[in-house]
Amino acid sequence: MGKGFFNVPIAFNEPVKSYAPGTPERDLVLKTYQEMYNSQIEVPMYINGQHINTGKTATMSPPHNHQHVVGTYHLAEKHHIETAIKTALEARKQWANLPWEQRAAIFLKAAELVAGPYRAKINAATMIAQSKTIHQAEIDAACEFVDFLRFNVQFMTDIYQDQPESTNEAWNRVEYRPLEGFTYAVTPFNFTAIAGNLPSCMALMGNVVVWKPSDSQIYSAKVIMDVFEEAGVPPGVINVVFGDPVMITNTILSSPDFSGLHFTGSTFVFKELWKQIGTNIHNYKTYPRIVGETGGKDFIVAHHSANPKQVATAIIRGAFEFQGQKCSAASRAYIPKGLWPEVKQQILADLKSIKMGTPEDMNNFFTAVIHEGSFDKLAGFIDRAKEDKDVEVIAGGNYNKSKGYFIEPTVLLTTNPKYVTMCEELFGPVITIYVYEDEAYEETLKLVDETSAYALTGAILATDRYAVETATKALQNAAGNFYINDKPTGAVVGQQPFGGARASGTNDKAGSAQNLLRWVSPRLIKETFVTPTDYRYPFLG
Ligand code: NAD
Repeated sequence: MGKGFFNVPIAFNEPVKSYAPGTPERDLVLKTYQEMYNSQIEVPMYINGQHINTGKTATMSPPHNHQHVVGTYHLAEKHHIETAIKTALEARKQWANLPWEQRAAIFLKAAELVAGPYRAKINAATMIAQSKTIHQAEIDAACEFVDFLRFNVQFMTDIYQDQPESTNEAWNRVEYRPLEGFTYAVTPFNFTAIAGNLPSCMALMGNVVVWKPSDSQIYSAKVIMDVFEEAGVPPGVINVVFGDPVMITNTILSSPDFSGLHFTGSTFVFKELWKQIGTNIHNYKTYPRIVGETGGKDFIVAHHSANPKQVATAIIRGAFEFQGQKCSAASRAYIPKGLWPEVKQQILADLKSIKMGTPEDMNNFFTAVIHEGSFDKLAGFIDRAKEDKDVEVIAGGNYNKSKGYFIEPTVLLTTNPKYVTMCEELFGPVITIYVYEDEAYEETLKLVDETSAYALTGAILATDRYAVETATKALQNAAGNFYINDKPTGAVVGQQPFGGARASGTNDKAGSAQNLLRWVSPRLIKETFVTPTDYRYPFLG
């Protein structure tokens, strides 16, 4: 920035539209959905600003109708990845030196494109690719993505403004350089906003990126790339590649110029990537930054002072929205005996009213799980629960994959607080409940803390303030995002920075300046005004 200290627009959260019957947004998104669903597209890779069709393709189908094809996408060979790296490094020469306000303008424009002309398209794509209801698509693909883009620009300027003290003898300045080399973004299926944020926040800070989206999110990833193109992201700055994750990752991590991994996905994959980076460490020109937000086994604890209706609602919304496929979704709950009959009654009544089906039928609260692998895994855990003596299926438990990957919202009740579904991430619409003696609150909190390897989100519901304080202390390290009298899902950019520790990730808080700091390498510049000409200090006499 040469000629002014520019203020960026004040970031605000994109208002969530209602899509109630009769609203224009409902009509538009349904029309867009029908058009997209009933046609076929071909998704190229994006390398150096070019659309690359390799001829080797895979098909895309909605999870709620797996025999229906909405298009194909092109798969990379090793040489495409090598080209993506090479062109990213070439693009870096200009991009890393572009004044920040030019980068900011591109991503602010991207935000307004998503909020406006692309809103129906990115929501419809997310409904088709990931089987989200319109509400789930709106809060993710439209609003959260817009929020990331707007707030990141503000966070970037907050970071740039963080400068050291100076004196009349020397002026100290810090410049926040992009990382040397190129960065790698690996994104999960479940949030279009995360898919857009991981590559774009690194690019905003001046980095160049190779981005590998999830195979199950490519339809909506294409809309993200269309937005970035129209917003003016220059060729080579964000390159998108599809295909075999192992081949792509091996090629990227063996480059000496690899300088950062921005990952969101499962814990096992992230640990494997970390290990691979460690193995290659002697080859790199710089220590790579490693940021990973991974799995969760998120809890709801109710104290006997809690309102049972509030507990039941937190469970229904926390466990079953988007079929429980949120890293933050509640998947284990601890309910005191005195409260359980009322909580149970309310959960069962609510579940009766939940409709399951395709997302374009807006009476449905609940749609399909993402793919056959996930369906089979969940069905396996449900079957096992039907057999095991220490657990009972009290709601749901049916599944059917004849047309789409449908699994009923399922509630398990266990007498064993360490039952497998109390410990492992299933990533689907299954919650396990353990009922504890009312007076065993503190022991139960200890159990919550010790049961799972994860520490992403968790919630305590209580009206007794001492109980709230006890849980807040006891569960200090059990969740990176801790909710009091709320469900453990639904973090909003700029309001609840998101991330967890233990096996849940590096806790670099997406949706905050802390995350962006990982993508810069500060350089301190000290400029002395009157430079000494004699080495002797006064003490030398
Ligand atoms: P996943 O781990 O299967 O896939 C994530 C990404 O890693 C995809 O792009 C995938 O292609 C890639 N990948 C898979 N195997 C790989 C390999 N061997 N080498 C390199 N890349 C590989 O996860 P998913 O099913 O897409 O997403 C669900 C998981 O993500 C859950 O565990 C969930 O908790 C987690 N998640 C966490 C957060 C968070 O903020 N903590 C947010 C969203 C999702």
